[in-house]
Amino acid sequence: MLPFLKERLELIEIAELTFRLGLTDSHGGNLSCRVGNHIVIKRSGKSLGRLKPEDFVITTLDENPLLDRFASLELKVHRAIYREIPGVRAVLHAHSPYTVACSLKYDEIEPLDSESKLLLGGKIPVLKAEKVVSSEEVAQRLPELLKKCPVAVVYSHGPFAVGKNIEEALKYLSALENSCKILTFHGQLP
Ligand SMILES: [Zn+2]
Repeated sequence: MLPFLKERLELIEIAELTFRLGLTDSHGGNLSCRVGNHIVIKRSGKSLGRLKPEDFVITTLDENPLLDRFASLELKVHRAIYREIPGVRAVLHAHSPYTVACSLKYDEIEPLDSESKLLLGGKIPVLKAEKVVSSEEVAQRLPELLKKCPVAVVYSHGPFAVGKNIEEALKYLSALENSCKILTFHGQLP
């Protein structure tokens, strides 16, 4: 039996939901969970919409070049989050279109709807960095923002959400996309 099978199956279920909800593009986005000193993370290049149990890499909280080479390119960001925020057990990253659009326009995203205000708090941080994909700078700076808010957006790239489990991370990522849609529609109303 594959190690961490229960965790792999939980990640697959939430990855499919993320994909079906239109929260990312065909091969964009990644997700992981932490079990003790291990990280279970999606393999590089696999679509969130049709993951299989073998499409994950098991690596460690410490860098491990042998194990890391097949993992998602955003492993460095996931790992930095787990190392910096001990309570986080899961990380979800996607390219949610309305969220990315709002990151291009606002320095921080302020939900207008009551549900997102309750769930996410006042303002969602947007992180601007020189390089935004597979970025050391994002890995260094993003955990600080996620200590204050369970979801933060990398400018022109997409949100990273955290939680006690992967479903909770999806809840935050999806709520942010919803509030960015409302923000956009509201701006278009006469
Ligand atoms: Zn990405």
